Amino acid sequence: MLLGAVAGSSILAIGATRAIALSSEPMAPADIQALALACGKPASHAQLIADARLILNAEIESGAKPADTTELVACPLCRCTFEVASDIRF
Ligand SMILES: [Zn+2]
Repeated sequence: MLLGAVAGSSILAIGATRAIALSSEPMAPADIQALALACGKPASHAQLIADARLILNAEIESGAKPADTTELVACPLCRCTFEVASDIRF
């Protein structure tokens, strides 16, 4: 039971990868502030969730994970986490 729960909630590294990409170029303080403000809106996480769902769908389709798997995705800016479920319909 416990093992299954841990395997089903592995944290994706998408957010971290994006944070690295963002920080590879110098950013003006105003840009950072704008990003942080955008992050406070629920819609700003839609792309993050959509990316995670695409990966999760592919993993389930390839048989790597059971169909009821959910993933925790962490936002690189506000550090909040989302539970993403696959939207595959069999
Ligand atoms: Zn965020």
